[in-house]
Amino acid sequence: MDNDCLFCRIVAGEIPATVVHETATTLAFRDIDPKAPVHVLVIPKAHHRDVLALAGDPAAAADLLAASAAVAQAEGLTGDGFRLIFNTGGHGGQEVFHVHAHVVGGRALGPMVS
Ligand code: 5GP
Repeated sequence: MDNDCLFCRIVAGEIPATVVHETATTLAFRDIDPKAPVHVLVIPKAHHRDVLALAGDPAAAADLLAASAAVAQAEGLTGDGFRLIFNTGGHGGQEVFHVHAHVVGGRALGPMVS
């Protein structure tokens, strides 16, 4: 755990979050500022800075992908579709440097890049 990391502190229960899915290695909770009717963040419990770091731990990456799919299924997104996003680095718009997948859906989404 990184004590300076917001999402590590959510994993530790120090900061509240609306958890929708949890496994031994992952946690999924609703985004505090949702951009769509469904906007869930899916994170590995272990700290990885970004998706580039996560790629160095294939088991953790697979767990995160499986958890994201489970969230999409549980939130009823698999019929009409949804978006799975990893913002990465400055140009990617990453604000929290604990890797997270955004599961976004519940309405038709606009162009991917703005
Ligand atoms: P990023 O821009 O790093 O890809 O996304 C960070 C996301 O974390 C944003 O969508 C933001 O709304 C969300 N966020 C920031 N702080 C909190 C928080 O304390 N709780 C929750 N649930 N989401 C947060």
